[in-house]
Parts: sequence; C-alpha cells; structure tokens
Amino acid sequence: MQKNEIEKQPGCEDELNECLLTVAEAQARILDAVSAVSATETLPVREALERVLAGDIVSPIDVPSHTNSAMDGYAVRAEDLPADGVREFPMPGTSWAGRPWLAAIEPGQAVQIMTGGMMPEGADTVVMQEHVERDGDTVGIGAGHKPGQNVRAAGEDVARGQPVSTAGKRLTSADIGVLASLGLAEVRVYRRLKVAFFSTGDELRAVGQPLGPGEIYDSNRYTLYGMLKKLDVEIIDMGVVRDRRELIEQAFNDAAASADAIITSGGVSVGEADFVKETLEKLGRMSFWKIAMKPGRPVTFGHIKDAVFFGLPGNPVSVMVTFFQFVRPALLKMTGDSGSPGAYTVHARTTSALRKRPGRYEFQRGVLQQTAPGEFSVRSAGAQGSGILRSMSEANCFILLDPDRTRVETGEVVEVQPFQNLL
Ligand code: AMP
Ligand code: MG
Repeated sequence: MQKNEIEKQPGCEDELNECLLTVAEAQARILDAVSAVSATETLPVREALERVLAGDIVSPIDVPSHTNSAMDGYAVRAEDLPADGVREFPMPGTSWAGRPWLAAIEPGQAVQIMTGGMMPEGADTVVMQEHVERDGDTVGIGAGHKPGQNVRAAGEDVARGQPVSTAGKRLTSADIGVLASLGLAEVRVYRRLKVAFFSTGDELRAVGQPLGPGEIYDSNRYTLYGMLKKLDVEIIDMGVVRDRRELIEQAFNDAAASADAIITSGGVSVGEADFVKETLEKLGRMSFWKIAMKPGRPVTFGHIKDAVFFGLPGNPVSVMVTFFQFVRPALLKMTGDSGSPGAYTVHARTTSALRKRPGRYEFQRGVLQQTAPGEFSVRSAGAQGSGILRSMSEANCFILLDPDRTRVETGEVVEVQPFQNLL
C-alpha cells in the first residue's frame, strides 16, 4: 500500500468505493452510526449486576440512617471533656449496634457504645475504649480529645435525595452494594442487547464431524461466542451458512428480524464466493468495507432494517482484532453503557524485533509483562499470520504499530493495548 493512498482516505466521499479508511476514522464512524437500545426492564438488584442502569438513582434515605460511632468506646458530650487532668464519668448503659441506648445522655455521663451503635441523643463525641480508664460503671477520660471525633454522621455516605448513580452506568459489585444500602430491591436497566452471528464458508465443518478434503473446523463462532459472553449480551448463534447467495440473503433477513446487531465472519473479500458485501448492499445500507490495518483489512459495516451489521473477515485472528477494535465499542454503546470501553494502552519496551510494512496500522499480538511499577516489557507472541489463532491464545495484548512505523528493533518503546479479561 502506498502512503499517498492512505492519505487520501479522509476524502473518501463515495463510501461504496474501494477506498481505505484509517482505524480511527472507522471507529468514529461506527460509533456515530449506532445508538443505545431504549427499552428497559426492572430487575432484582443482584440480577442487574453487569447490566446498564436506565434511570438515575436518587437516594430515598440517609446512609447511614442514624448518626453512629466509628469505634468501640464511650459517647460523651464534647463540652463535658476535661481541658486537663482526668474526669470521672458515670456510665449508665451501652448502645450496641442495632440495640441503641434510647435515653438521652445526661450532662457528665459517658454511654458505652459499639462500632455502628447509634449515638445517644445529646452525645456528639466518642472516646476510644483504649483511651479511657474503666472502673465498674465509671470511666475516667483524660484531656486531648477532639469534639466530634469518631462519629459518623447520618447521611455522610449518601444523603437522602442525593443522586447516587446516573443512567448509562454499568453496574459493578460496588454499585449493587450501594443500591442495597439504599434499601432498593429492584432497579431499572436497559434490556439486554440481542446479537446474532453466523459463519460463512463452504469449507467449514462443525466440531465433532470428520473433515473432508479442503475442509476446516469453524472456530470463529467460538471466539465470537466467547467475546460476546464477556459483554453480557443475548447471543443468537445461527451456525454456518454456505456460500450461496440465497442462503446468505435468507440468513441476513432472519438475523435482522430477531437481533439488534448481526456479526458475520468470512465472505467479505471480492472472491467468487464472497456474497456478504453484495447482500448487504441489496438488503440494507453499506457504509464502507476496507480499513488500512492488518489483520482485518476488509470489514463491512452497515444496517439491515433496524439491525446494525458487522461483516468481519474470515481469518480467525482478523475476527478477534476487528471485533475488539470496532464491534466491541459499538456494542457497548448500544447496550446504553456511557462509560469507557475499558481498553487502555501503556508503553512497553519490546524484547522482540518486529517486522512491519509501512502504510497500515498493525495490531501484532504480544505478551506484556510488568518489569517494575509502571514499567513494562513486551515480546511478540510468535508468527503473526492472520490465520494463526494460537497467537491470540498466547498473547495478552496488541502491540499497536501506527502506519508510519516500519521495522521495530529490540529495546524500542512501543504502545501496547492489553486485552486480558476483555476478550
Ligand atoms: P474468507 O474471508 O471467507 O475468504 O475467509 C478467509 C479465510 O478465513 C479462509 O482461509 C477461510 O477458510 C478462513 N475462515 C473463514 N471462516 C472461518 C471460520 N468460521 N473458522 C475458521 N476459519 C475461517
Ligand atoms: Mg469464505
């Protein structure tokens, strides 16, 4: 690929033309062309883990609901604390967590109190039990305590009426804990996204069947299944579709009738048996189909009726790379998630020399290792062919090599995008 061809991409006016888009441009266009589902459902809080909040949460109560002690100790009135020497306080009883001392504190008294115990009316300060001299029902308290110490105010975590979380937040373990702390049993979330996928190719066999001459096992439906599972979407596996115009068309129509998004693999080149692109043009709208990247150059994006369509290349590594770079951020947006997709990059010193052709963005597979706090090294995960799926299995990151870059020598710093736990 010549450099001047890359540079003319932004002016790619005719979207059906065989022009090359940059990775960033393709990502932006795809994100721009998808929107969040609008339907919602109400779920018990635990079932809402990993789902996306559909409305803002405003606290119906103060958390904690009562002013309480942060320590095991003695609740007193600050004004009764001695400026010097030791003062003896009569101790009328104990405020346990969940079993409060219901009487108001009298001047000069110290009520024993446990962590989480409700502060008796009139008391405003807690002296830790390690700092008193207890003698029967009397406690001796010395000087040097701060008024208000060791007390947790009602509502200091969350005040009644305070916004807690906003729509678009994917609920974490902490979030469902916060919802429970507010006493909420149910929460409204966006409905689950439905994603249909199928593989195309006459050469594909399902696992468990013997291979005939020239046949291979269909692995793309497994990697896609795994990557979709991580996104907590509803998965519609449509199997393998043979390379026949009518069958591909039928599969497109079926998928569009039931799914929000459709993902296919294979059949997006211009080979004799590559019908994905022409079928998308016939049944829907096609946005573009070539990106200046390796692996994964031919990628089709578009719409069929209301469904978003991603036609990924057939090569197994290309499927995973294009899914991570284009499909995953788009699906996250479609689920209503307004947070970041969670991918980040770090700089790492490469311990392998990397071969690269100029003019295209490369996503090489690497093994990232931390060598010291904030310092990383990366090595190549081996042969980088787009059909070598083992390189993905051994890798934990992509080594991002931008179009201008050529050969990278051992010891040079490269940008790396970890994908562990994201794919
Ligand atoms: P295609 O884009 O259909 O020309 O496919 C490109 C390459 O990927 C070919 O070598 C295919 O055999 C291979 N391929 C396509 N689909 C799959 C699949 N589902 N599993 C494994 N390899 C595949
Ligand atoms: Mg094919």
